[in-house]
Amino acid sequence: MKLADRTTRIVPSPTLKVSATAKTMAAQGIDVIDFSAGEPAFDTPDFVKEAAHSAIAAGFTKYTPASGIDELKRAICDKLSRDQGIQYEPSHILVSCGAKHTLYNLAQALLNPGDEVIIPAPYWVSYPDIVRLADGQPVMLETREADGYAIDPQRLEACITPRTKALILNGPSNPTGAVYDRKTLEAVADVATRHDVLVVSDEIYEKLVYEDTPCMSIVTAVPEMAGRTLVVNGVSKAFAMTGWRIGYAAGPQALITAMANVQSQSTSNPTSISQKAAVAALHGGTQFFTELLDDLTPKRRLIVDALNAIPGLTCPTPAGAFYVFPNVSGLFGKRHANGTIASATDLAAYLLTDTHLACVSGEPFGSVNHLRLTYTPTIETIQRGLTKLKTAVQNLS
Ligand code: PMP
Ligand code: GLU
Repeated sequence: MKLADRTTRIVPSPTLKVSATAKTMAAQGIDVIDFSAGEPAFDTPDFVKEAAHSAIAAGFTKYTPASGIDELKRAICDKLSRDQGIQYEPSHILVSCGAKHTLYNLAQALLNPGDEVIIPAPYWVSYPDIVRLADGQPVMLETREADGYAIDPQRLEACITPRTKALILNGPSNPTGAVYDRKTLEAVADVATRHDVLVVSDEIYEKLVYEDTPCMSIVTAVPEMAGRTLVVNGVSKAFAMTGWRIGYAAGPQALITAMANVQSQSTSNPTSISQKAAVAALHGGTQFFTELLDDLTPKRRLIVDALNAIPGLTCPTPAGAFYVFPNVSGLFGKRHANGTIASATDLAAYLLTDTHLACVSGEPFGSVNHLRLTYTPTIETIQRGLTKLKTAVQNLS
């Protein structure tokens, strides 16, 4: 069978792949420590589960409008008014099956073959392939560890061509944890406006920012940008609801309508029960975020300090999200029983095979020098993993 060319341009999500391998190893009875999966370890809050139970009991188990129920769209408008300070109407909102699906709908609705999307690197693994699946062209904008992965507006402008359709912002970032400050956002807004570029602002880690670091949406920094920005968010990370698959977008009505049409001819509505659960989550106040941050804050300190104490590794403290992105290039050239570590991908493979430690190479995130580790497991698991990592590095010669 000859498959479509587009299938040869993409790979399976590398994060989900490592995470599935770790789960398979655990099911085989292997004591694997999983730093790969990008999801909160917390259970979904009880008040959210109760809303889902009530939805089932009330028979809310049929098709809904393909773009999502009005009640949820209104809850999203309230949230965006509260947190981002922008008033959206329900007609400017699309509810999809996770923020990943939102981005997929966007690419299908926006891109013609060869259209370019600027993606600051390091980036979340799925951005380039979602663009490629729509026959678009990802254009990587380099950012540097030494600059805290800040976007340089001049370098951004140099990436723009007549084919540029959009720029993706992701703050806090997966994988670096970097956030954008107001000055950067204002400069980005200026470039995007002058060149008529859509800004896609992926704010899925918005609630996970440490130590009062200023972090805001581009539409908050520059409200006039609301007309050329697609705000993307969801309940996966903020409410520990990764499996419920609810994400959403807010933006210009013509774009939202085109995305909704793509959705109505593909998945139809996101799960009716999950939509009711998401309404409860968005009305649920801020208590849960406080608990999440109280849990993650000491874990972040522990893992950053321990990684920096391992010779050959350096690890900046991330401002947000729940990932660390240590530079492991100090280990390149070192040897183990079965080969040499020449890249972060070699190191990730060595750690998984020899020590049963699952983490993701920086390579699919756009950096061969880094490794991504998630610090959502328990403190005890993180400590055990760090001990294993230290021993594995000591065993290299
Ligand atoms: N954006 C980023 C940056 C992510 O890390 C993820 C991964 N969960 C998503 C979007 C998609 O999240 P979901 O589809 O679970 O809403
Ligand atoms: N976004 C998370 C991660 O980066 C979950 C997996 C995925 O969808 O990529 O690990």
